[in-house]
Amino acid sequence: MKKCLYCNRPFVEGVCNDECDNKYEEFKIFFEKWYKKSIVIILLTCSFFSTAILYPKEGLLISGIVLSLIGVELFFLPFATPQTIKSMGVKGSVELCIKYSKYFIVTGIILIVIGILIRILIPIK
Ligand SMILES: [Zn+2]
Repeated sequence: MKKCLYCNRPFVEGVCNDECDNKYEEFKIFFEKWYKKSIVIILLTCSFFSTAILYPKEGLLISGIVLSLIGVELFFLPFATPQTIKSMGVKGSVELCIKYSKYFIVTGIILIVIGILIRILIPIK
């Protein structure tokens, strides 16, 4: 059974209607423009994690910042892997990314708050 490339509803071939067609094309242009850049941005953000080695006492704070940044990036550039997009359809994969982006942002902010609290409560000598 073939599925609509955009909304993932079972369909004969391609996309189910003009609306899905427009949105699919829109996403394709957006994807082609930003997908590779989004991988570079995420990798650069992750590499910021390594500063935690230099400042182990700020590890929680750094992790929180990195996690929040990844969340923000995923929110604005909601790209799942091409395999996921293919199996879930564009709509489902974007919704999944945005859902995860919110988890990342919330978890990141919690870590930042804990990191700051620890810093205040346990002064570093
Ligand atoms: Zn559709």
